[in-house]
Amino acid sequence: MVQKTKIIATLGPASSDFTTLSELIRAGVRIFRVNCSHGSESERICLVQRAKQVSESLAIPIAVLIDLQGPKIRIGELEKPSITLQSGRRVIITDQPVQGNEKSLSIELPGLFEHLQVGHRILLDDGKIELKVIQKGKNTLETEVIVGGALLPRKGANFPDSELPLSGITQKDLRDLQVGLQNSIDAVALSFVQNGQDILDLRKQIKEKFPTKKDVPIIAKIERPQALLHLSDILEQADGVMVARGDLAIEISPACVPTAQKQIITTANRLGKYVITATQMLESMIENAVPTRAEANDVANAVFDGSDAVMLSAETSIGKHPIRAVQTMVSIIEEAEKNLAQWSVWNGKLIPKSEDEDSYYVIQAAHDLSEDRNVTAICVFTQSGRTASLLSKTRPKVPIYAFTPNPDTHSRLSLFWGVESILTPRANSLDEILAIIQSTLRQQFPIKSGDQAVLICGYPVHQFRSANLLMLYTVP
Ligand code: PEP
Repeated sequence: MVQKTKIIATLGPASSDFTTLSELIRAGVRIFRVNCSHGSESERICLVQRAKQVSESLAIPIAVLIDLQGPKIRIGELEKPSITLQSGRRVIITDQPVQGNEKSLSIELPGLFEHLQVGHRILLDDGKIELKVIQKGKNTLETEVIVGGALLPRKGANFPDSELPLSGITQKDLRDLQVGLQNSIDAVALSFVQNGQDILDLRKQIKEKFPTKKDVPIIAKIERPQALLHLSDILEQADGVMVARGDLAIEISPACVPTAQKQIITTANRLGKYVITATQMLESMIENAVPTRAEANDVANAVFDGSDAVMLSAETSIGKHPIRAVQTMVSIIEEAEKNLAQWSVWNGKLIPKSEDEDSYYVIQAAHDLSEDRNVTAICVFTQSGRTASLLSKTRPKVPIYAFTPNPDTHSRLSLFWGVESILTPRANSLDEILAIIQSTLRQQFPIKSGDQAVLICGYPVHQFRSANLLMLYTVP
């Protein structure tokens, strides 16, 4: 693999068979997303298991990310298959389970109306229809249609002006989480996060119900204005964030998304947190075999902004050209990465966090040494993957070879920018580590005698402590 920014492909009917999965991996995908908003539970289990089998048969590690639907709010059923809301007309929203029509719609969420004020907007069907609250009743809201249009049953509703009484995790999310963890998924994304407490709640659930999986990374999808307001709090609690531009654009308007993207990525990077840029990256490739010029720019700019990973959604889940979309993304990323030194917004300087300050400085020193000595690679021995993930944030020019004896860490490492993951036997001494590095580098990578690599690990080796040892290693 040449490109360092990781590609996430969302799985779906267009990418569910063995051949397509293996071609996607060969083309450069290292992370598959399974979106719990779509498909049945058994279909999703099948996708996760098949992706893992294909990865094993190719001997190329991949990570699987499950994307929990979160508290997505929808309108209820309608009397007809489709209705049309006319601009300027009044529509009553009720919390009762009525069949909707041109005059009234149902949105069933206890306590929702208390949090909406006169003047707040309600956006329906991906923001295509806009309503404004003009009067509040006990169980109803009177709204005016500001932008009308055709409406189908069960379409999504967004409330960009309101802090909602939503718990970040629903019963469906808990079930999807359980099924995902039982099938060895590598990371969990949570939708419609509003604040750090949503992440704490999810982590508590994982710790209590699935203690052996307590370290699974949690990625907060940033798609509500409230999440932007509480970004530092969310980043404090989450392992990473996703710039979920689909819903974000509905809630804050497309015009505000580019600035939000830069704010989210820069803040996450400084704190050493993982960051994904998502949605509509190569949207036209759902139909077409080539991207638009604007899409190519978008992917490259996400790389320059400092994304660890860029995500394909419908392009690979239901699109006509899933493999071409990945190949296209690879070529854009490779070109951008050749020019990172000139255009990158992210300078790789992390803000040390007190609890693991030693490793921050060791990592930063490894990065600097790799540039001063023009080494071939940085080798990391890691138990949890934390050292490799932090090192990746410093954006070294050379590959990061992350050696781990832990199978869970092995697949999880595929998430991180510039990291290649290698499963090794357990090492009990520095000499054993050096022996493993020597045989692996010579066998698997284009490294010759006399080349130098930087090594970081925890010492004493058998104590599995965080990185405190840095070595300049010359391949014999
Ligand atoms: C988004 O809204 O941008 C997103 C990634 O979420 P989903 O694909 O679940 O809509």
